Amino acid sequence: MTSRLFIFAAALALMAMPARAEPPSSVDAALSALVGNAKVKAALETIKADDAATFAEQKKITEIAAPPYKEKVRAEYYLKKIQELGFKDASIDSEGNVIALRKGTGGGHPKLAVAAHLDTVFPEGTDVTVREKDGTVVAPGIGDDARGLVALLSVIKAMNANDIATVGDIMFVGDVGEEELGNLRGMKALFRDHTDIDGFISIDGLEINRVVNQATGSHRYEMIFKGPGGHSFQEFGLPSAIHAMGRAIAKIAELQTPSNPKTTFTVGTVSGGTSVNAIAAEARMAVDMRSNSTDELLKLEARLLDLVKQAVAEENARWKTDKLTVEIKLIGDRPAGIVAANSPIVQAAEKSATAVAPGQKVTLAGSSTDSNQPMSLGIPAVTIGGGGEGGNWHSRNEWFKPTDAYLGPQRALLAILMLQGLDGVSKPALAVRAAPK
Ligand SMILES: [Zn+2]
Repeated sequence: MTSRLFIFAAALALMAMPARAEPPSSVDAALSALVGNAKVKAALETIKADDAATFAEQKKITEIAAPPYKEKVRAEYYLKKIQELGFKDASIDSEGNVIALRKGTGGGHPKLAVAAHLDTVFPEGTDVTVREKDGTVVAPGIGDDARGLVALLSVIKAMNANDIATVGDIMFVGDVGEEELGNLRGMKALFRDHTDIDGFISIDGLEINRVVNQATGSHRYEMIFKGPGGHSFQEFGLPSAIHAMGRAIAKIAELQTPSNPKTTFTVGTVSGGTSVNAIAAEARMAVDMRSNSTDELLKLEARLLDLVKQAVAEENARWKTDKLTVEIKLIGDRPAGIVAANSPIVQAAEKSATAVAPGQKVTLAGSSTDSNQPMSLGIPAVTIGGGGEGGNWHSRNEWFKPTDAYLGPQRALLAILMLQGLDGVSKPALAVRAAPK
């Protein structure tokens, strides 16, 4: 690049600066400006008044089945709901995520994505009828994440009803693929297609006294040991798939991992063999490895895979053969990450919770959620609860009780406003990230 061109480029860059150069305001300054504001108070009241309607919508969404990879019907319904709230351009992306952009007054920066997941863990054909008894509802997915989906709608309604204009842009997302089998495919697509997202909030789970700022990463494998197989007496001398797997498990069981960052492993399931009097031709196991650090996860994985190969070599050596093999398949892949406790997004998630429910103690936690993906990319992210009480997650007896449920969307709204700024009242606390190269 010639120097003249360079100067021209630098001047262009400077011209483009003003919207981006504004330093982020502190979370505390944002909060004190917001809590006294009449529009904000009115919006929080709107959410409270919307509590019963939000709960009714939660039951409705729960009854639209959304098995892994089959979220389409629920996604289309959710898109319609979002369009009814004024997002004429909302759409479903190539992966199946519902996306709606609410523009701010700041020229597009910062950009915050707020998401709840459409998918459930329940396979096709699961009875998703909502059963109700004494104010408690029972249904697969009633809390996880139907609550997050409606909390998000309630936030949008309150912003619209009270003419809330933020400085930063907000991208509202109903995403696919959060649960196990989905491997965060919705998030992977979102952050691949939108490299200008500066921060991310997932509304998942219920508690409003908890902030997930650590992403537990996981790698899961299925390992299939295969040998010739044969009669246990006549063909004694052949390698055994079960013996090889046993050797591997014995080695894995002795692995040592750090407690901080917490790093874990287990052989979760085993199967194999055909008969008590046959040398096993096949054996398989599923292995789970998790860590709050990508580095530790990869280290553990390298050691474990090496031990499995050693076990196969030993079984072959024992019988002086090379007939035993192992096939190693990656069946789960979630990245790890962590967001600093003093970062604006974690602070906003904490302070919004104590603002709507004073006196409670907010704790930081690690979990595996949609936030894993942005966290692994170094994008500030948290997962917060949608409000209410519940339990029996991922079971057909999942239950939900709408106790003070409105606190969930109220807290989410406040956190969003702290991060994105309320036009004319507070500046965004979320920093604009440097443009990715
Ligand atoms: Zn969930």
